[in-house]
Amino acid sequence: MSGVSLRDVQAIDVHCHPYVANPNPYTPEEFVKKLSLSVIPSSGLKTNERNKKHPYPGTNMWVQILINRLAKYYSCAPELEEVVKQRNVRTADFREYTRELFRDANIIGLVMDFGYPSPPLDKKEYTDLCGVRIWEIYRIEPVMARLRGECNSFGEFVEKYRADLRGALKKEEIVGLKSIIAYRSGLQISEKNEAAANEQWEEFLANERAEVKAIRDYCLHVAMEECTEAEKVMHIHTGIGDGDVILDKASPSFLFPLLRKYSDTQVHLVHGGYPWMEEAAFIVSVLPNVYMDISLQNPFAGHGVERILSQVFEFAPFDKVMYGSDAFTVPEMNWMGVHLFKECFEKVLNSWIASDYMDVETAQAIGEMVLYRNFENVYRPFF
Ligand SMILES: [Zn+2]
Repeated sequence: MSGVSLRDVQAIDVHCHPYVANPNPYTPEEFVKKLSLSVIPSSGLKTNERNKKHPYPGTNMWVQILINRLAKYYSCAPELEEVVKQRNVRTADFREYTRELFRDANIIGLVMDFGYPSPPLDKKEYTDLCGVRIWEIYRIEPVMARLRGECNSFGEFVEKYRADLRGALKKEEIVGLKSIIAYRSGLQISEKNEAAANEQWEEFLANERAEVKAIRDYCLHVAMEECTEAEKVMHIHTGIGDGDVILDKASPSFLFPLLRKYSDTQVHLVHGGYPWMEEAAFIVSVLPNVYMDISLQNPFAGHGVERILSQVFEFAPFDKVMYGSDAFTVPEMNWMGVHLFKECFEKVLNSWIASDYMDVETAQAIGEMVLYRNFENVYRPFF
């Protein structure tokens, strides 16, 4: 063996979302929109007279790479219009198409957040669509939004909220809770303060999306307590996301005091805090029960995935990082996620061999750890 080869290594995607078949064939514009993290509607640029060799308006490297790789997969010209045409033929049987992509990428399991899209899609239907093993995480924010309409006081709300989380954590298929507090009030979490939370109750009643930081912080503390009790994993969104994220409070460094306090709680930093992944890497290097994944930044940072992997492993222990995609609209995201990740990781691992930091066997082992073995070790109790 002259270098690392990840091509045949299986992958478990530790963070992604479900989707359904598009009812009608996509236009190129519709397909491109599905590939974007943007929640802002497009500017309505005229695209019918464009030069097909020029980038489609608004697209970036990730879309460029996907078009090229799909063109190779379909054996067609590497142009958006041609790729979408081929896709529309193949997605006539969306289930077979999806399963074929999953087989091609050797994806054997998914950890799924059914909290997006909303209202939630059916788990059984999605399992049938992709044909692989699924584990679930349970989002706390929809629980909070639902229960606030059913309760007469903050005290009653907290009681029901805790009972709801506890009930969910008892379910075998649920491996942990998840919070998107980075989209609501940010990751700078205050001490648990019941009086301050109680004061925001009316505001929360009036608007489920209200900042109500004291309530949200309180609820995150409760979620951490329940995960600790149930010995399951707390997933926390860190870093960028879609356009609603509170960007100036999304760095994982804000979570550091909370993570130190709950040193017995297993925490999974979703998206590894990109673009602050070095902070996440440091945190997982000093706190034994904290892990990170490289989802969203992979595949949406495109060619940057190679740089990211190199930077994350400046500090992160090899057994603390897991593969993910954050696929959320189309199966090509799951597929491209694995292929881009493997391609970039091979380059990084082979550069470590060339530098004489390790031999091929060690580099190969690290590749396999990140792609699926670390997940198996962290989540083994839930198999
Ligand atoms: Zn996600």
